[in-house]
Amino acid sequence: MDKEINQFERAALGWQILKRVSLEKTFITYKNFGNEIGVHHRAVRFVLDKIQDYCLNNHLPPITILVGDKNGIPGTGFTAWDVDNIEEGFEKVYNCNWNNLENPFSYAITGTTEEEIVNELLNEPEKSKETYSKIKVRGTAQIIFRKALLKAYDSRCAFCDFSFSFALQAAHIIPWSKASKSQRLDVRNGILLCANHHCLFDNGLLTINNDYSIAFQSNTKHKAISNYDNLLSSAFHNQTIKLPKNEKHWPNKEFLIEHRNASA
Ligand SMILES: [Zn+2]
Repeated sequence: MDKEINQFERAALGWQILKRVSLEKTFITYKNFGNEIGVHHRAVRFVLDKIQDYCLNNHLPPITILVGDKNGIPGTGFTAWDVDNIEEGFEKVYNCNWNNLENPFSYAITGTTEEEIVNELLNEPEKSKETYSKIKVRGTAQIIFRKALLKAYDSRCAFCDFSFSFALQAAHIIPWSKASKSQRLDVRNGILLCANHHCLFDNGLLTINNDYSIAFQSNTKHKAISNYDNLLSSAFHNQTIKLPKNEKHWPNKEFLIEHRNASA
């Protein structure tokens, strides 16, 4: 049986092509782009979507604007920029120094899938430094970290059980900027939280004790004033977080201590 088509491997190739096209300050047709990455032009969309999403999520210029019809006009799948104002979009892309950016899909060049990387993080959390070295790019690392936590926490906020996946985020216990290379993608340094609880956790209003109970600490700067504030924060005081099924994914206690110290 053929190996499952790896759109990320194609996205890695596509990124290189678009970078070249941008440096040449030109555009490429769907047909030629498809020929270069080895897919029919009708299937090009799946690859472009990966790149487009990456640019949108990481506030990069809309590089997929460079793929269009023979007049250089992108098709309906292109949503990263207002096509009525297409010249400004091109200008933004041409003015970006793509050479300074790592290929966000470089891990896939060898055929590795995103799924495989996520499973690596879950199967051997202690080896996450090696996984991190394959990815290099922060935006990609964040996406993969979140996917691993979605699996570990069964797609529910560890505080409130909220399960609307668009609102679920990967919180770092030791923040990304302070985390070592081995901590950045370590699922034991992560916790899946809804957007509100992520914010309260990052700001130290909610912390986690070493018995995995939640501690709410109001301070003069941030006080719970409405009933809704209470529902979001103080209502969880002393409750135990919803831990991953697999104990090897539970938050590391040393990391929790650091988070509490930083929040005190
Ligand atoms: Zn929540």
